[in-house]
Amino acid sequence: MGLKHRIKAGLRGLYARTLWGSGVHRVVGRLSRPRLLVLYGHCVDQPATNGALDADMKISSGRLEAILEALGKSHDLVTLGEGLARLRAGKVGRSMVALTMDDGYRDNLHDLVPLLERTGAKATVFLEGGAVAARSLPWLHALGWLVGQLGPAEAAVRVAARLGDVPGSPAGITEAGALKRTLKYDADPARRDAALLALVEEAGGDPSEIVAALYLSREEARELAAAGPIEVGGHTAHHPVLSRLDVTGQQREVAGGAALLRELFAEDDLAAGPAPLGTSGHVFAYPYGRRWDFDEQSPGVVQSAGYACAVTTHAGVNHVSTDPYRLKRWPIHDGTALHEVGTEAAGGFELLRRLGIDLVE
Ligand SMILES: [Zn+2]
Repeated sequence: MGLKHRIKAGLRGLYARTLWGSGVHRVVGRLSRPRLLVLYGHCVDQPATNGALDADMKISSGRLEAILEALGKSHDLVTLGEGLARLRAGKVGRSMVALTMDDGYRDNLHDLVPLLERTGAKATVFLEGGAVAARSLPWLHALGWLVGQLGPAEAAVRVAARLGDVPGSPAGITEAGALKRTLKYDADPARRDAALLALVEEAGGDPSEIVAALYLSREEARELAAAGPIEVGGHTAHHPVLSRLDVTGQQREVAGGAALLRELFAEDDLAAGPAPLGTSGHVFAYPYGRRWDFDEQSPGVVQSAGYACAVTTHAGVNHVSTDPYRLKRWPIHDGTALHEVGTEAAGGFELLRRLGIDLVE
């Protein structure tokens, strides 16, 4: 972490601890504009199904429950669709917090749903159509499996040998994060995906078993979508970096993912066109979600596929005036500090942003 980043993190912690610890956040919360804070994570920590995933993709059930209970005291806990509909209708009442989970991991049914039932909270789960409905192994998890088996250096050697001397070849990379970044942003997606799948099989892995261990099955996804506190949304077919695709490629991924979910749920209200917000299937999350992971074409592509909004992974709170195709979200994992997420929910960081100070991004 650079010095500038460390100073910012220190100031953020100090400001949030002061606001939260003194109770001033309640006053700020009452004076701030009506708002919707969207939280995002991937998994409730469950060693049996998601033990191999990166730590920042997981949150323990105890920590998640504590965050939801604390925020639920002064906010309504809603799904993303409900929250947006209420903002638009001007019927906010208390400000709102919406929990979202990306990709469609198995714990979302087995661990998250019972937790939501205990706390009275709700969640929106964004499903990858390819992995959940078509049972195809996403490249990132093919890579994760290979790195787990061979280590990053040997995995890079094998991928480089498969890809040949092309842009995005990871020749010479020895660190897992750098390997992931190179393959994510520099490699040709189709060649990368084919190379990784072939390498998993060559190393004795079974792609369908890897998918089955991590992701909800089709039956589990149906059960999840039918659970009371859950809204499901779209997350493309194969989780690409949309900005690396032309418009046709983006349409194939976004509309294709929606079609896979529609077929899976066989419900005509899923992504079938303009429909009331809050209806399952009408919310979308950009894969990876940073502003460079999609482009100026992406919102139109998402809207044409029938989605009423799209969420990013940039922090902040959302108001009625926020672009519905660039909604902000706050990350939650075991490193998430309650006083910081609580300060964002109360509008405390927004207050500083209006003064030109951003302690979060
Ligand atoms: Zn995702």
